Amino acid sequence: MQQQVFGGEQHSGRATRPLWTAMKRGFLCRCPNCGEGKLFRAFTKTFDHCEACGEEFHHHRADDLPAYLVIVIVGHVILGGFMGVEATSTLSMWQHLAIWAPLTIIMSLALLQPIKGAVIGLQWAYYMHGFGGEVDHIEGHPET
Ligand SMILES: [Zn+2]
Repeated sequence: MQQQVFGGEQHSGRATRPLWTAMKRGFLCRCPNCGEGKLFRAFTKTFDHCEACGEEFHHHRADDLPAYLVIVIVGHVILGGFMGVEATSTLSMWQHLAIWAPLTIIMSLALLQPIKGAVIGLQWAYYMHGFGGEVDHIEGHPET
């Protein structure tokens, strides 16, 4: 007897897009579809479409999720690092500030673009927000 599958990607009739590959390609700031074309034309501005394979990028709705994720990651690393060093050393508050404040800024700037790329890769892999070719209806957005 044939197994019946309801819902999910098996039911959609669309090819499954590899989630982790797409997120890894996005993290490396490359096109989630081909991994060749560049994803960003500026720090956090994406190209409209891939120069290599033509895949459209403008559908993404990463919004402020990348910033939230950067805050979570950097916050845990910096706070854990500070507390560990503070407990095992005799550094003054000024020395701690000189270490952790610049590190926070550097890590945040370094992670924002790759994490935004990974979020776009996830949205692409799940056919979200028009990545499947349908119109994405969001009130107030020019595409709708
Ligand atoms: Zn591409």
